[in-house]
Amino acid sequence: MFDFIHRLHFWWTYPKHMPHPESREFLQTREWKELRYRAFLKYGNRCVVCRRSAKDGAVLNMDHIKPRARFPHLALDIKNLQPMCSDENTAKSNWDSTDWR
Ligand SMILES: [Zn+2]
Repeated sequence: MFDFIHRLHFWWTYPKHMPHPESREFLQTREWKELRYRAFLKYGNRCVVCRRSAKDGAVLNMDHIKPRARFPHLALDIKNLQPMCSDENTAKSNWDSTDWR
């Protein structure tokens, strides 16, 4: 029930100019880029799975623990983010919601 209210509230207050959280365009928005940066400050710039950083040659992404496709209302929630390298992020796809932090 709370999840339903959370979703309803999210869409009610979601800015009209913002692309859908599931879209590629979403990742180009200032809102997402700022949040992504704050998440790197908060959780560090190492992959939560293999612990590699950019210095070790990893390409870091900011992963949505609960995928944007199924949980669009958590797309801009910093608690739903974890730094993950492209290797793991590609393998993870949309079916997994493991919180590695
Ligand atoms: Zn990794």
